[in-house]
Amino acid sequence: MEDMHPNHVRSRRRGRLVDMPAAVGTQARWQEQVWAVRVTALLLLTGAACIAVYYTLPSAGWAQAGLFVSVNLAAMLAAWRAVVRAAGVNRFVWTCIATALTLAAAANVPYYGIPLVTGDPLPFPSPADALFLATQLCLIVALIRLVRERRREDRLGDLLDTAIVVLGGTSLMWQLVIGPVVSAAGMSPLGHLVAVAYPVGDLFVFAMLVRLVFAGSHRSPSNQFLLTGIGFLLAADVLLAVQVANGSYATGGPVDGMWMAYYVMFAVAALHPSAPVLCGRPSATGHRITSVRLVLMFAAVLVGPLLLTMDQSEVHVIAGVSVVVFALVMTRMAGLNRRLLSAGSELEKRASTDALTGLANRAAFRSRLEDCLAGTERRVDELAVLFVDLDDFKHVNDKLGHAAGDALLVVVADRLRATMRSGDLVARLGGDEFAILVQGPRAADEADAVGQRVVAALAEPTCINGTVVHVGASVGLAEYGREKDSDDLMRNADVAMYSAKSRGKSRVERYDSALQDAVADRLALRVDLLEATTKEQLVVVYQPVVDLVTGCLVGVEALVRWQHPTRGLLPPSTFIDLAEETGDILAIGSWVLGVAVKDLRVWQRRHDLPELMLSVNVSMRQLEEPDFAQQVAAALGAAGVDPCTFVLEVTESHFADPAGGAAGALAALRAIGVRVALDDFGTGYSCIAALRTLPVDIIKIDRCFISGSDVSQPDHVLVEAIVDLARRLGMDVVPEGIETHDQLQRLQQIGCRSGQGFLMSQPVSGSGIEALLATKSPLLVPHTVPTFSKATLTCATE
Ligand code: C2E
Ligand code: MG
Ligand code: MG
Repeated sequence: MEDMHPNHVRSRRRGRLVDMPAAVGTQARWQEQVWAVRVTALLLLTGAACIAVYYTLPSAGWAQAGLFVSVNLAAMLAAWRAVVRAAGVNRFVWTCIATALTLAAAANVPYYGIPLVTGDPLPFPSPADALFLATQLCLIVALIRLVRERRREDRLGDLLDTAIVVLGGTSLMWQLVIGPVVSAAGMSPLGHLVAVAYPVGDLFVFAMLVRLVFAGSHRSPSNQFLLTGIGFLLAADVLLAVQVANGSYATGGPVDGMWMAYYVMFAVAALHPSAPVLCGRPSATGHRITSVRLVLMFAAVLVGPLLLTMDQSEVHVIAGVSVVVFALVMTRMAGLNRRLLSAGSELEKRASTDALTGLANRAAFRSRLEDCLAGTERRVDELAVLFVDLDDFKHVNDKLGHAAGDALLVVVADRLRATMRSGDLVARLGGDEFAILVQGPRAADEADAVGQRVVAALAEPTCINGTVVHVGASVGLAEYGREKDSDDLMRNADVAMYSAKSRGKSRVERYDSALQDAVADRLALRVDLLEATTKEQLVVVYQPVVDLVTGCLVGVEALVRWQHPTRGLLPPSTFIDLAEETGDILAIGSWVLGVAVKDLRVWQRRHDLPELMLSVNVSMRQLEEPDFAQQVAAALGAAGVDPCTFVLEVTESHFADPAGGAAGALAALRAIGVRVALDDFGTGYSCIAALRTLPVDIIKIDRCFISGSDVSQPDHVLVEAIVDLARRLGMDVVPEGIETHDQLQRLQQIGCRSGQGFLMSQPVSGSGIEALLATKSPLLVPHTVPTFSKATLTCATE
């Protein structure tokens, strides 16, 4: 193969290979098509002219015979040319056709020539008949090969339809040709056999023609000319049979013209540029019952009864064939009915299934629930509904795109299926909402276990397109009690789910009437939150970060509080999540930042502590703001705070998407000296190995490892390992939640330099910090710090 530029195409017209640009190639293809149409039109006109000339010539003379055979020979040569141009199956088909035309020419020469020489008609049967029959056989083989190339979906249906139409044709053929030939007197047995072989062969050709028409495949022009030619051949044969039967046949009549038309059509088919691709691909709409098919079948069913009303001579055969036709029609109808029913049930299935996950959809879930409540399936007191809503699904959609969101929903559906008991129904209600219907004895108790299993299963991280994604699920459970209908039950489960979300997500909440009040309460809080910032209801308190060796205050962590007009001072746990949901966190975060950096600057100056540190917590929503880094830098600049004394506290989930905007903002801030602390370390999903790659400077070990109620020996071992690892990676460690001297001592022993906790100080107001700095008193009593040296105590006792 020669190399060629991809933008170049090749024109094979007239056998030449020419490189040309694609646009020129399109133009060349267009020109080729125009050329093909013109040549085809010329060939058809020439053929028509030959037929016209045939009838102007003296009947049954040399000229007529010569013209007839010439047209046959021209078609034969054209067919052999097509054999050379075609390949594979197409070459085989053209070889059969070319052979058929060659045999026809070999038969036509004696058929027309001998009577001209001898003056007597050719006897019947003669060797020419053998050649004519062989012609038919070759055509049948060619058509069978074409039919085999077009196998379609509904093969049985096609076969039945073909059989019905062909049997209709058989009735006609029997009445007109076969019957009279069989009962004709004075004919030798061989004569009978040959006379019957012609119509039988024609019936085979007809059957193949019908099969090809029903296949409904895309047909090339060459193919269409070929089928038209076969149509002329069949029409000629039937007319011949009728004329022979009533004694009106003579050479030079209409039958000859039809035969010539058949040769002309074959010649045009063979010379057309599409001849090498006779076999087209089956069309997608092929299995439809087209109107052509219906008309043909209608005619086939009617032909028997109509013939019987006109002529009773072949009553047994025609009636027998008609019965078979009716039986086939019934079989076909039964098949169609079956297909209709299965299509109906498929449609029904689709209407009740969620297309993405394959789970039941909302409509199916509701209908099953209503059935249950109506007591049609099981006893109504043994039923519970779980409402499952994914936590933070929006982040996945926003960050990784909707395709990833869809992939995650499919994984969630699989996990839900795996947690189901047999007989329960799981459905996707829409978006990231799922519902589970738990039925059977002790359903109310078991629903709780199912809910816990769901929470556990969905807490497992998932890998989507190479990214590890964490979503949990909040589950609301409502068991059937006094609810009147499915709507009530679903609403209650929804309320319980909402409560699970507000109580920290990734948990199961069971509905009770008090929850309704809690949800209403949360909604009210949501409204109040809108005004919290503008009405100056927020307060910043600071928890000291203490040097565990000296007891000195080395920094503060800013923590927000909400001084609610009626509910009193609210901790962040009651409103930070809500603020994240509503977006109010952006205003709150920016307000806290502004106030805290101003306070820090005052303390640094007033107490000459330029290295006093400030930590501020930020939420994901803030970090994702496109100008977050600029906002922080501007706040630090406006207050005159050195960025090296400022720490941003973020949680592990912020690093779920290392390539996202949050990572960019953190990198920009670190570049100007701001330090990043990984807050609540150990409560998320980061593995220790990930610490190596995270853009953090400080690790804050969550208080559940330090002072939690279930702190155990392994936790201490873990803390020691984290401290050691962080030190090796050049990071600082700040343990949170130090409450007892015992905990302090352990941390001191493993070399923790600073920490936070109620043992040293609760979060206090700005003036509280001011007072601590003013008194300069250490936040740890000397006797609790066994490793204190004289030198380190200086700062504390100054
Ligand atoms: P955090 O950043 O881990 O803050 C430490 C939390 O632990 C504070 O709770 C603090 O009062 C508490 N704590 C400190 N020492 C001890 C101790 O010895 N024992 C016990 N039991 N608790 C201790 P707080 O103030 O309720 O804050 C809770 C969380 O709210 C913070 O956890 C932080 O994630 C978030 N938060 C607070 N302020 C803000 C803010 O301005 N913005 C954002 N986005 N989140 C904030
Ligand atoms: Mg914090
Ligand atoms: Mg923390």
